[in-house]
Amino acid sequence: MVVCEICKSTEFDVIASEIREGPGIILLCRQCGLTLQDIRQTEQELEKYYNEVYQQTNSLRFGETQMPREHFQDSLSSAGPVFERVRPLLGPEKRILEIGCGSGALLSKIKPHVREAVGAELNKDFVSFIRNDLGITAYAQDVNTMDIPDGSFDIILCIMTLDHLPNPARTIATMKRLLKPDGTIYLEVPNRDDALNHYLPSPNQAKFNMFFWHKAHYFYFTRETLTRLLENEGLTPKIFCRHQYTLVNFLNWYFCGSPQKTFVEATCRSHLFKGNSDFEKKMNILFSDADNSFHKILEETFSGDTLCCIASHQKAFR
Ligand SMILES: [Zn+2]
Repeated sequence: MVVCEICKSTEFDVIASEIREGPGIILLCRQCGLTLQDIRQTEQELEKYYNEVYQQTNSLRFGETQMPREHFQDSLSSAGPVFERVRPLLGPEKRILEIGCGSGALLSKIKPHVREAVGAELNKDFVSFIRNDLGITAYAQDVNTMDIPDGSFDIILCIMTLDHLPNPARTIATMKRLLKPDGTIYLEVPNRDDALNHYLPSPNQAKFNMFFWHKAHYFYFTRETLTRLLENEGLTPKIFCRHQYTLVNFLNWYFCGSPQKTFVEATCRSHLFKGNSDFEKKMNILFSDADNSFHKILEETFSGDTLCCIASHQKAFR
């Protein structure tokens, strides 16, 4: 029986029966509004999935399986804005842990600014790359089973990972345990209320919804459900919203109902023209200005693709 991770209710509505990879069941908790996937995998299956399947089906380059270094190179561009948000938390005496650190792009940016950076990641090839090529401590292990003393870290990061876990409440409890009393947790998760999930014309709306639900994501959080999940574990969250993708990407979905070919293109190419004619230059400025306004609107209305959350022990605020 499925039990809600937040309110323990067992009453759900089925809101989708098809996901990106094929058949799949998406449920909505009738009591608290948490959206989740009805999928059960053992720890071994989950480990196998992240080591053998995930890099093929969720490549940053559509249809290609990337080597760790290629994945690292492509992740550097998206790690830049995350690093800027995390930067005020860093300091030469700080110890940080990143849960779900991928191929280590964010850790590599953080490392020069802290005393120690540590990563946890299920993909063993990524962990070898982080250790051997980046010289950063990393563990190919579930953070809930790692043998680390309580109160070890000043900062714990979990970027686009909490929604991949079958047990986010337990993992948040682990983060709280590993955090120093005055430490800070910084999380990012996909936003269930992304504008693309609600405001596209038919049939492209249905196409995006199906793309949004995918096998790797057990949970789909909103501002309200993420707040409740953290408060349940005795943390005080502060949530804001951002959007990684461009207006061009939004229009691509709006008119064509399909994603762009690469993550880098979908997040970085904010204009339409490559030439230097007067027309092209002016049109590119138009799109660049519109892109800025687009991002502002999505942040203000909590309709961006990402929810960002800073959380601390409750007593730290008192
Ligand atoms: Zn619930």
